[in-house]
Amino acid sequence: MPCPLVGADYSTGVLPMFSSPCPHCFLGRYGWWPKYRAAKWLTLSCSECGRRACSHPLPLALLYIFYLADVVNFGYLYVLQKDPLYLLAMFLVWIVLDVISLRMPLAAMRSANNISKEERDKQ
Ligand SMILES: [Zn+2]
Repeated sequence: MPCPLVGADYSTGVLPMFSSPCPHCFLGRYGWWPKYRAAKWLTLSCSECGRRACSHPLPLALLYIFYLADVVNFGYLYVLQKDPLYLLAMFLVWIVLDVISLRMPLAAMRSANNISKEERDKQ
């Protein structure tokens, strides 16, 4: 029975931790590498339906504020104090933010395959 929240069919198997179903068809699966690329503002293409998806832009923008704060804060502290522990802290926080970016929700994008029949007739 498909999950009402994400639409994935858990009766066929549990999703891996950083895997997500396609937001269009819920059949295609995106592994951790495509999700990592999507968190770098790249678009994904589903292998099942061919439609496009991306990381949801609003949580992704918030995450990039944390990336910026990480680099500015720890980078500035490193420049001021000359303590390499600040550089180490910056890279550790960066890795934590990268792991969080793998959990970003995917958003469905419109594409040529996704337009409604009325819009297709207008063109
Ligand atoms: Zn799909």
